[in-house]
Amino acid sequence: MEHGFVDCHCHISAREFEEDLEDVIQRTTEAGVKTLVAVTEEVGEFARVLQLQERYPDLVAPCFGIHPLQGGGGSEQRSVKPQDLDAALPHFYKHRERLVAVGEIGLDFTPWCAPTQQDRDDQMKVFVETAQHRQGAGSARERPLAISC
Ligand SMILES: [Zn+2]
Repeated sequence: MEHGFVDCHCHISAREFEEDLEDVIQRTTEAGVKTLVAVTEEVGEFARVLQLQERYPDLVAPCFGIHPLQGGGGSEQRSVKPQDLDAALPHFYKHRERLVAVGEIGLDFTPWCAPTQQDRDDQMKVFVETAQHRQGAGSARERPLAISC
């Protein structure tokens, strides 16, 4: 039996890895990592994760999710809205056989990102509905959740 590590939550699709992706992948495999569970935060990352899985099929395991905060880490950051989940769901179902888990999802009530009760209610709605959809998206098995904390 071959032994190794599973990185159960990484952001390998992040722009920060574009320049030296090959080096990162090489160091990852040299360190004994056998699987990278590639979580996403926004629907715009889904295609990149699928491309990475196609490029490294024995290493990258896709995980689709909608983070409670959208718009990156800059001044455009905002609380997730139900429309964000609406945009993601077709991708969940279309690629359900390729997903090993669902995430990254969760709640983030940072005051300047979710200042209103509507923001917090929207986050709760997206979180609960995503968790409910993971079963439907998971064909015969229920996908694990990767929770933001
Ligand atoms: Zn994360």
